[in-house]
Amino acid sequence: MSIKLIEKRWDAIVVGAGPAGCSTAFFIARAGHEVLLLDKSGFPRDKVCGDGISSSALGMVKRIGVLDGMMVAIKPMPAWGVTIVSPDRSVMKSPIPDPGKRGSSGYVIPRKKFDSILLDHLISQPGVTMLQDFCVTGLLYDQGRVCGVKCGHDNNEVHLKSRFVIGADGAHSVIAKRLSLFNSNPKHRAFAVRAYFENVQGLENRLEIYYDKAILPGYGWIFPTGPTSANVGVGISTRFGKSRGLKELFQILVEKNSMVKDKLKNGYMVKGSLKGWPLPCGSFPSKRSAGNVLLAGDAGSFIDPLTGEGIYCALRSGELAATAVNAGLTAVVQEDAVGKMYDTLWKREFKWKEFFPGYVLQSFLTKQSILNFCIKRGAAGPRIASLITEIFFRERKCLPFRSK
Ligand SMILES: Cc1cc2nc3c(=O)[nH]c(=O)nc-3n(C[C@H](O)[C@H](O)[C@H](O)COP(=O)(O)OP(=O)(O)OC[C@H]3O[C@@H](n4cnc5c(N)ncnc54)[C@H](O)[C@@H]3O)c2cc1C
Repeated sequence: MSIKLIEKRWDAIVVGAGPAGCSTAFFIARAGHEVLLLDKSGFPRDKVCGDGISSSALGMVKRIGVLDGMMVAIKPMPAWGVTIVSPDRSVMKSPIPDPGKRGSSGYVIPRKKFDSILLDHLISQPGVTMLQDFCVTGLLYDQGRVCGVKCGHDNNEVHLKSRFVIGADGAHSVIAKRLSLFNSNPKHRAFAVRAYFENVQGLENRLEIYYDKAILPGYGWIFPTGPTSANVGVGISTRFGKSRGLKELFQILVEKNSMVKDKLKNGYMVKGSLKGWPLPCGSFPSKRSAGNVLLAGDAGSFIDPLTGEGIYCALRSGELAATAVNAGLTAVVQEDAVGKMYDTLWKREFKWKEFFPGYVLQSFLTKQSILNFCIKRGAAGPRIASLITEIFFRERKCLPFRSK
């Protein structure tokens, strides 16, 4: 590693090159600053996910300037609609809202491809330096103030210095743990497993969501990654009691749910693809920062508690973190007040519009009787179906939910 990189004092170090880290680094570099992006993995790398890229996330990808390139490079599977199946097997079909009129409601893109295209675009930007296989282990301090990070690389400890540090290091965030801001509250966490299947039958361009009484309060999904391939998974919030064996719930979904079983009857699971990962969901404690250190994406618990959508929240929280850091770098606010500015920005956008309604709706949309009632009504009429879908995806204009 070059001495120049070690001796340099960066404007910002971003830890983690997933969607949150890439977005943060992009918006800091675009403002003319120098960013060092570190990741413990070598890319392309897998990330356990449902791979559903929502319309809102696409809007962010477009603003980062890589949407067209991504579409050309991978020709992803568009998802025009959603199918929701109730515990008593009513089937409700509806288009997915496209409030930004972007011409597509979403895509299913395996994260190995999505994240590496985002990262390739990012490292072509002026002002961005990326180091892979650098595992951050802690923060560096100078007179009680954070001045960089410690990392492990090639069995050596390396110290890298910066004015700001952004922890975008995901659900097991080392940075959040070092700041004592790690979300370990079971009320605001979920766990999910997913596997890839080939030779799946009867797929349409739809996200399929299965509520099954043996899986409640969790739900299962089949998200098509291609005409005959799919990401299949099960997720459950730990809010409603001890998390049950997720792999067992996954087996129930694929072997006992008659509709899922039918689709997978000639299919096979891609070897080694069944993996689990935690989801730190939007919670109410009001700090995602400490002075000049900020947390974005899963590291800052930005996942939608109702749907488990985290990619949009990672991209957007990264942009908000960059806005605050840029204000500090141009002396619009004092360096130590940057964290406070970030906390104001994300609270205004996420706390009451995303986290609170998601948390409240979660307790209704996990009850068998309510799900049977609502989905049966939705199955009978398109207007109710689209109302339910809009509430699920939180696009309803009349509600104080997500504003685009
Ligand atoms: C099973 C499952 C299904 C999901 N389905 C969806 C879905 O369909 N749609 C959706 O929008 N969201 C979904 N989510 C949520 C989504 O995956 C996350 O919210 C999203 O990945 C968050 O992005 P991030 O950049 O914050 O973190 P990550 O994508 O986890 O990236 C963190 C990066 O940090 C790096 N890193 C970690 N520790 C260190 C360290 N110490 N030093 C250096 N680098 C480090 C990692 O290598 C990684 O590259 C799902 C989650 C799960 C678990």
